[in-house]
Amino acid sequence: GATGLGYKRLLLKLSGEALMGKSGFGIDMDVVDRLARDIAEAVNAGAEIAVVVGGGNIFRGLAGAAKGMERATADYMGMLATVMNALALQNALENAKVPARVVSAIPMPTVCESYIRPKALQHIEQGRVVIFAAGTGNPFFTTDTAATLRAVEMDCQAVAKATQVDGVYDSDPRRNPDAKRYDRLGYAEVLARDLKVMDGTAIALARDNGLPVIVFSIEEPGNLLKVLRGTGRATVIE
Ligand code: UDP
Repeated sequence: GATGLGYKRLLLKLSGEALMGKSGFGIDMDVVDRLARDIAEAVNAGAEIAVVVGGGNIFRGLAGAAKGMERATADYMGMLATVMNALALQNALENAKVPARVVSAIPMPTVCESYIRPKALQHIEQGRVVIFAAGTGNPFFTTDTAATLRAVEMDCQAVAKATQVDGVYDSDPRRNPDAKRYDRLGYAEVLARDLKVMDGTAIALARDNGLPVIVFSIEEPGNLLKVLRGTGRATVIE
């Protein structure tokens, strides 16, 4: 394209852990600022970025269920956690001079906008970063599934999952020095081999809609722009 970008509109999935930095819990504002600068760099290069944030740095439904909570109730707590992360990221983006809106799948009109598809699309078309909060709004789903769902709804060319490693391996590269890294993978192989990329629902939704999933490392600054340019180290699932 005219911008030299391989992908013009991208959905970025940031896990809650990505906002946690080296601390074991919660939000590290320095890390959030750095991520916001990466997103700002991509936006200033002409990309349209939508973001889905996780909540695992604050609360996970499964953890609550393991302690005896009703799973659906615990999942609502997890979804609320993503709203806190989304507000922190919006604040950091605005500081970086990037207009951003938080859009929640669970309406909370005094805090942020509710998700209405055409409105969210309009924000993106007007150059705003839309941060999708509260996952899909339904218990028993994950923010990875929310990421693929919103990517398809927003007509994104790919969903990019930010991780701490530079792609998908056949075993954990931090434990196994012989772990093999993939440049490309098919959806079927990810599902059949149960490779820990995204949950099965998210991968199946991407497959059914022909949405490429890019797994890359957000650890070094500038990697998001490299992914958009198609020059970054990543695994592409399609
Ligand atoms: N969650 C949910 N429905 C959704 C998305 C998320 O119930 O559509 C809940 C679920 O309990 C999950 C928590 O929110 O554990 C936080 O999301 P997730 O674990 O996906 O966050 P991440 O691992 O990306 O930090």
